[in-house]
Amino acid sequence: MTRRQPLVAANWKMNGALQTVRPLIAGVLAGVADGIPAEVAICPPFVYLPEVGRALQGSRVALGAQNVSEHAAGAHTGEIAAAMLMDLGCKYVIVGHSERRHIYGETNVIVAGKFVSASRAGLIPILCVGEELSDREAGQTEEVVANQLDAVIQAAGIGSFAAAVVAYEPVWAIGTGKVATPDQAQQVHAFIRLRLARHDTGIADRLRILYGGSVKAGNAKELFAMADIDGGLIGGASLQAEEFIGICRAAE
Ligand code: PEP
Repeated sequence: MTRRQPLVAANWKMNGALQTVRPLIAGVLAGVADGIPAEVAICPPFVYLPEVGRALQGSRVALGAQNVSEHAAGAHTGEIAAAMLMDLGCKYVIVGHSERRHIYGETNVIVAGKFVSASRAGLIPILCVGEELSDREAGQTEEVVANQLDAVIQAAGIGSFAAAVVAYEPVWAIGTGKVATPDQAQQVHAFIRLRLARHDTGIADRLRILYGGSVKAGNAKELFAMADIDGGLIGGASLQAEEFIGICRAAE
């Protein structure tokens, strides 16, 4: 069986201020210095990337962004290009988060464009996929996730998944306190791996698939113990250093 190094990535969303960023990063760095088996990444809001990037320099913690434009440069007011994120030292970028899909109308085609522009620039996209509660209740979880994946495979090619991460985030579990059971999550993670294996078994086998949705220090261990769960994408619980480090410690 392929050994995949777990990744725990913090998605701060639109939270924080200069005064809160500094102590939060200091807390995370202190926890990581104690020894964490997982790779750790922090995705702050765009405006705090330089500040967080400086604080992370020389540490084992990677910098990531929460979004990226599908365009390379030019007349796109308010957008941020992948090359700019590279300039600031980002390694990762989240694409297709459900809040981007559902609040800002990002379609599978737009998300695929963002994945392509991130990959081309040398960033590692963290591609978020996941069903809404109504999809799950209608028995359409796999169909929804397959469509989200297939749009990206078609646009970017399976080869680009060699330097990508997928995050399975059931929309009904994000920020709701309702966490998927380890079995529910494992079932979809295995499905995702299988879907990619139709194109390339080696890439599918090496791909890290994170779980996201109300992960806390108290429930992380049982989720991360599942065969196809390779870490987590953490929203609310990543805003408290101690809680976040507790989650990182659970990823062995
Ligand atoms: C997320 O925003 O990706 C997420 C999983 O949020 P939360 O952990 O708060 O559910």
